[in-house]
Amino acid sequence: MGIAAAPWPSAAAFDATGLSVGGLAASQLAEEFGTPLVVVDEDHMRARCREFREAFPDVLWAVKAFPARALIRIALEEGLGVLAATGGELDACLRAGAAGDRVVLHGNNKLDHEIAAGVEAGVRFVILDNGEEVERVAAAARTAGVKQAVLLRIAPGVDVETHAYIKTAAPDTKFGTPVTGGQALEALRLAVEAADLDVHGIHLHLGSQLLDGRPYRAGLVAGLDFLAEARKQLDFRARILDVGGGMGTTYIEENPLPVRELALQIEADLESGCRERRLETPPLLVEPGRAIASGSALTLYRVGSIKHVPDLRTFVAVDGGMSDNIRPALYGSRYTVGLASRASDAEPHTVTIAGRHCESGDMLARDVSLPGDVRRGDLLAFASTGAYEYSMASNYNKVGRPAVVAVAEGRARLIARRETYEDLADLDVD
Ligand SMILES: *Cc1c(COP(=O)(O)O)cnc(C)c1O
Repeated sequence: MGIAAAPWPSAAAFDATGLSVGGLAASQLAEEFGTPLVVVDEDHMRARCREFREAFPDVLWAVKAFPARALIRIALEEGLGVLAATGGELDACLRAGAAGDRVVLHGNNKLDHEIAAGVEAGVRFVILDNGEEVERVAAAARTAGVKQAVLLRIAPGVDVETHAYIKTAAPDTKFGTPVTGGQALEALRLAVEAADLDVHGIHLHLGSQLLDGRPYRAGLVAGLDFLAEARKQLDFRARILDVGGGMGTTYIEENPLPVRELALQIEADLESGCRERRLETPPLLVEPGRAIASGSALTLYRVGSIKHVPDLRTFVAVDGGMSDNIRPALYGSRYTVGLASRASDAEPHTVTIAGRHCESGDMLARDVSLPGDVRRGDLLAFASTGAYEYSMASNYNKVGRPAVVAVAEGRARLIARRETYEDLADLDVD
C-alpha cells in the first residue's frame, strides 16, 4: 500500500486507515464537507497542465470538462488558454479572470448573443462551425468595431475508434463543415472575403478518449489536403492548425500515449504532411479537456443499503448516482472503485454500485470487486471523475449537485458548495 497509481490522482494513497488525498483522510473530508464529494488534487491538475504546455506550443483547456471557476484559474495560472463551448462557459472563463484574448469560443450552433459576447470580450478566436456563421460573426464584429480573428471548423470525415456519442469527425456528424463536395472550401472563401473577419486557420476535433496518435494522423491528412486545396483555389495560408482535443485518460487500465510522445508524433506527422504538400508548417494548437481534468479528481460516496438478489447480484447503493455522474448510463463508462473509509482483508466480492435515482439504469459501476464486508456507512471512492461528471450533473429527483473541494498543501478548500433545496426551489415562480 502507499501512493496509488493511475487512475487515482497523484496525491491519493491507500493505507491501513483507508484512502487519503494529500495527507487528508477521505473519512475526514466526508465528515467535514458531506457526500457525495468531488475531491480535486490541485497539484495533479497543475502537473497535467504543465505537461501539455511543455509538449505543445499552444494549448487551450476545454473547460466544459469541469467549468468550476477555481479550476479555470488553475489552467490560466499554468499558462494555458481556455476553450468555451457556450456563452455560459465564456462567462465562467471571464468570471475566473481570463483576459478575452486567452479565450476561444466554439460551438456547433452559437446563439447570436453568445457570438456578440465573445466578440465584445475580445476572444482570441471565434471558431466558425459553418458558412452560415460567417455573416453572423462578421455582423457582430462590425457592431463592436473590430476585425474578429476566426478559425473554420472542418469535418474531416474520419472515423475514429471510440464511443459513437463521443465521435465528432465521422462523416455523419453535426460538427463542422464537411470537406466533401466543396462545402468547407466555400465557407472558407466566404470567411476570407468578409472584411470584418481575419481567418487565421482551420480547426478540427476528432472525438474523445483517443489513446494514441493514429486518429490525429488521419485528421491531419484530411486537414492538410484541405489546406493544399485552399491554397490552390484561394491562395489561403493557415497561420494556425487546431487539431482539437480528445486525448484519453485512464479509468480502469487504459494506457494513453504519454503527452510528450503524442506531441512528437503529431508534430512529426504535421511536418512531413506539409512537406509532401509543399505547405508552410502552421503552428499547432491543441484543446485537451478530459486529459487534464479527469485523473485529477475522485468522488466519495457513502454506502446506504446493500441488497443481495440471490444468484443474481449484490447491489451496493450509494448517496449519489446519475445526477452527479451520467456517464455510465449515457456511454456505459466504467470506473475504478475502492473502499475509502478503512482497509479490509475480507475476500473480494463482485458487486454493482447503484445510485439513488428512480431509474433502473442508474448504476454507477457494474460488476466491480470490493471487499466482501462492505457495509452501510462505508465510503467508496470512484477514480478519474474530473471530466464530464460534475459538468454533466443534473438535478433529477431534486437532488442537488455535490460539493467540490480542491486539496493542496495538505489543506482542502471548498471550490463549489453543495446545492441546497433552497437553490433548487429558487427557479420556480409562484
Ligand atoms: C469537447 C471538445 C474538446 C475537449 O475534448 P476532450 O475529449 O475532453 O479532450 C476540445 N475541442 C472541442 C472542439 C470540443 O468540442
